[in-house]
Amino acid sequence: MNRVNSIVNAYLLVENGIISAFGPMAECPESPHKSRNMEGKWVMPGFVDSHTHMVFASSRHNEYVMRLQGKTYAEIAAEGGGILNSAKRLGAMDEESLYRQAYKHALQAIACGTTALEIKSGYGLTVDSELKMLRVIKRLKQTLPITIKATFLGAHAFPSEYKDNHNAYIDLIIREMLPRIAAEQLADFIDVFCDEGFFSVKETDRILTEGAKYGLRAKIHGNELGLTGGVQVAVKHSALSVDHLEHVGDKEINYLLNSNTMPVALPGSSFFLKIPYTPARKMIDKGLPLAIASDFNPGSSPHYNLWFTWSLACLYNGMMPHEGFNALTINAANALGIHETHGSITKGKKASLIITRAFDHINEMPYWFSQNHALEVLV
Ligand SMILES: [Zn+2]
Repeated sequence: MNRVNSIVNAYLLVENGIISAFGPMAECPESPHKSRNMEGKWVMPGFVDSHTHMVFASSRHNEYVMRLQGKTYAEIAAEGGGILNSAKRLGAMDEESLYRQAYKHALQAIACGTTALEIKSGYGLTVDSELKMLRVIKRLKQTLPITIKATFLGAHAFPSEYKDNHNAYIDLIIREMLPRIAAEQLADFIDVFCDEGFFSVKETDRILTEGAKYGLRAKIHGNELGLTGGVQVAVKHSALSVDHLEHVGDKEINYLLNSNTMPVALPGSSFFLKIPYTPARKMIDKGLPLAIASDFNPGSSPHYNLWFTWSLACLYNGMMPHEGFNALTINAANALGIHETHGSITKGKKASLIITRAFDHINEMPYWFSQNHALEVLV
């Protein structure tokens, strides 16, 4: 977590969009290619945002004000706010408008250095609306230059008509949503919000088992609201990642240590909801790797600037600047299953790069908080 290699006065050769060589400037080969002088700047791997809900209908600024007036996220959800509010608005919005809005958000994220992105469904919660969201994500994959992975999150919340009949909604996910999503190849991964008041461990287990039958690997929301067994069920299913983890004890850490599951912290939602931060320091000290992501969404983390996520991780998750860098690049690529092509400056990987302004030291990157340090983003 705490090692970042760098070369002062370096060259980097890109051919056909792939990093083909790099090293000290003194060893720079003669090249027929166009060259550019990056003197004084840093060239680093592009960020990977491994957890977002970038497709949504509208902001939830009214709920923001309700929270400022003293209501909790849970109280707002109980009054029809939260995820169900987003689902109602998304259901009423056409595919084209959803696409255009998400496209705009993605361009702004790219301008901040995001060069690979995960986007979840989960604001549909009906067969038609979940498919609509996933089709929007598919179109974003086709039209944006960056790498995008789609995650099916039909199990984000129980629609109010299924409040007292959880099994009927889970049947809908399993019998109607999953086969159609698989037939149209709309998802790369499957997610469940496994937490108090959302999906139980048993329900999560059932959904992940069915998803695996379609080749969908798990990336789940776990342990945001308590020690609710999300980590254990994620590890049981060899999930690619388990995300949130505001509540993690020694038991959860031991489960993760004996797994291939990447823990992912989302400092933006801890900041915005004023809830505890994932105990990253403790987890890293016990030997775990960690990724961090924006959790960009209209309810709990309306931001996509990963430089800010980095600053929050240092100030509130107890991470060191180098650890934050690895958490946003190579570990985030691992949490998205794209570490062979993204996340580091390595021969043969995609030349998705950030060129920053001049810094004396990498520590300055999270230090100057809330700014976008990317002068240029190459994809
Ligand atoms: Zn999320």
